[in-house]
Amino acid sequence: MRAENAASVVDGNAAAGMLWDVFGTDVTALVGVCGGCGDAAPLAEAVVEIDETAAIVRCRSCTHTLFTVLRDGDEMRLVLGMLHEIVRP
Ligand SMILES: [Zn+2]
Repeated sequence: MRAENAASVVDGNAAAGMLWDVFGTDVTALVGVCGGCGDAAPLAEAVVEIDETAAIVRCRSCTHTLFTVLRDGDEMRLVLGMLHEIVRP
């Protein structure tokens, strides 16, 4: 595996920093509902593949990509995938 493709597989807490840069607050306690399987779980419990420029946030149940956070210099971008809804419990 080439070093530039190396990504760590962690939980949603590891994406908290990148998500903060998008939303300006901590959103890991919000519940994300998967559009693929209907699983509802705090974003902190999602499966995340992360490196310096991207965090791929996957459903912990069916592994579909809920959304991807991309960093391009100062610009942050959130690309929606199978995320159906976000709920503040
Ligand atoms: Zn799912």
